[in-house]
Amino acid sequence: MSNQINKTLVFDGQVRLYFVNNTELVQELFELHENTPLPLKLMLGKTVSAMSILSGSLKGQERMNLQITMSQPAYQLFAETEANGNVSGYLNEGLLKAEVYENAFMKDVIGPNGRIRVIKGTGMNQFTSFTTMPNQDIDLDIANYFAQSDQTPTFILTELQLNENAEIQSSNAVYAQLLPGAPSALLSLVKHAFNQQPNLVSRLNTALSEELEKRFENVKMIGSSSTQFFCGCTKEMFYGMLLSMNEEEIKKAIEQNEEIEAFCHICGKTYRFGQQDLFNLL
Ligand SMILES: [Zn+2]
Repeated sequence: MSNQINKTLVFDGQVRLYFVNNTELVQELFELHENTPLPLKLMLGKTVSAMSILSGSLKGQERMNLQITMSQPAYQLFAETEANGNVSGYLNEGLLKAEVYENAFMKDVIGPNGRIRVIKGTGMNQFTSFTTMPNQDIDLDIANYFAQSDQTPTFILTELQLNENAEIQSSNAVYAQLLPGAPSALLSLVKHAFNQQPNLVSRLNTALSEELEKRFENVKMIGSSSTQFFCGCTKEMFYGMLLSMNEEEIKKAIEQNEEIEAFCHICGKTYRFGQQDLFNLL
């Protein structure tokens, strides 16, 4: 069941409720950020987990790109997902260099004036919207984006469990959205059920339909889709970065018969540009 989104309709098709166990995906993300302070890793993990379950709500060629800018505008977090379940995310240089204590609260890293920018759609048909982060929280404020920008009441819950070495033990998420015409009280019932029983999310892992049927009327399983960590980087993409380098530096590397290395901060891959590559640049 790992990295698989299970899709259901509850309350007679009036609310869609998805569940994912994306432990492997979030583990991979944590391994790439071994040296990042825990509050930042958790913030990134929760965002990527939310985006991974949201991939299940996209259709065809749709993508969703999310940027979170903290109160300190130099601190930014990026995540992207596609209808095929691919998801990635990273912290910008400003945030990686920030002095964040291991025991800092995520709320304080976000600060009172955090903002979310979402670009959603397909190639030619994209919509950009900006919302604030009144809750200083990843789950609540991504849900707030849907309420504000799409006028669709939404509930998102991501749960990351750590072991004593601060490694990911499990990662689960729930996404519920009111379908057109449904009374908003139904979504409140879903929120209430999860808020009342914090361990309900992980219980869905072993007994999804049973646990849902106990709480919500007329549960129907409607399918599943997969989700995975994926960075679309290629060596070609890094040529642009090299081109923006000082020409002198490139000449120097050629003279000294050196390679230039480029490192992808999203997936950890290293690309090497040898002598021939550098010659081609000049
Ligand atoms: Zn990459």
